[in-house]
Amino acid sequence: MPIPLEKIKVVEDEIERLDHDDKNRRIAITPPIQDFSFLNKPSHVKRSVHYDIESINTPEHEPLRSITNTEQPSIDNVLRRRYIAHWGLPEWLGDNHFLLQKHRPPANSVRECLISVASIHSETVNIWTHLIGALCVAVTFALFFIENYQQMDISDIISFSVFFTSAILCLSFSTLLHIFINYSPRVLVTVSKLDYMGINILIFGSMVPVVHYFFYCQFRLKAIYISVLLVLSIGSMIGTSSAACSKPRFRPFKAILFIALGLYGAAPATHACILHGLPRMFEMGFLYLCIMAVAYIGGGIAYAVRVPERFFPGRFDIVGQSHQILHVAVIAAIYLHFYGICCQFHYVVRTEQCLMPITLKLGITDLSISS
Ligand SMILES: [Zn+2]
Repeated sequence: MPIPLEKIKVVEDEIERLDHDDKNRRIAITPPIQDFSFLNKPSHVKRSVHYDIESINTPEHEPLRSITNTEQPSIDNVLRRRYIAHWGLPEWLGDNHFLLQKHRPPANSVRECLISVASIHSETVNIWTHLIGALCVAVTFALFFIENYQQMDISDIISFSVFFTSAILCLSFSTLLHIFINYSPRVLVTVSKLDYMGINILIFGSMVPVVHYFFYCQFRLKAIYISVLLVLSIGSMIGTSSAACSKPRFRPFKAILFIALGLYGAAPATHACILHGLPRMFEMGFLYLCIMAVAYIGGGIAYAVRVPERFFPGRFDIVGQSHQILHVAVIAAIYLHFYGICCQFHYVVRTEQCLMPITLKLGITDLSISS
């Protein structure tokens, strides 16, 4: 039997009243006067209306613990805590309404946020995909340099260092966002800005080695493309992290900035195709860079349209949600990119000379800027 709507309304009104008192506080909601015996229904009834109401009146789990409580949350309490349904989240935390259950309530405690990393909730996979991803990229960074440092000159070292550092920073900032996303509205804004900054840094750091190797001996071209990239990246970073842009209505503007920055990569790639010809480009790992772009775009589309949870609300609360697909796509894209620039690097090392543009071989010089 479904829970009577008037009973649900009582709980919702209570939450609204408490939220109104202090938007930054989430306090335990167990109204002393109301009869909440209706909450003790079989679990399938509660799931049928997608409300995790059971967690509301089980004091031992403290699902909506009062943040005014000065006691430190113990590891055991946090790990055993029942998480809450989407309807119980404050507005600043309920971003994806297709994820119905297992949300962490506002914590206002660093200790609680950190401990919850080891438990199962809607952010667990988001945290661990990029945490493990950052560690893997760091290990790959070290192994790659140990293996290849004898063949590398200073420009190779700078290019690969910029790429690996940007990937590690992006994944680390993303991990921080997902760990502390439920701390408080103020912290959410701060970690969101860090996350946007990480994406900008990754786009910049990914393009630097590609431009470096595609225009290995065309120094002027290389300088122009990297300078414009730097200006666009700084502009995008300022735009996405400014206070004005943190408002939801600026979300499309931020999306346009990222798309513009990503599409900018098509300019040097197209130019390089004209200079070197497709056969040489594919020899230099261009195919992996194309697959990388597809991975980013695919992950971005899944994230934007919230597939698959849009079609099966509540089924992907823990694993398989669109944000996790984006995270896996980012990791895959970073490794595809790494493989692509490895191909470029080994091609340059193997040929041991500057790449002569195919257009110069054919006697066509007007497509390139002499350096
Ligand atoms: Zn994320």
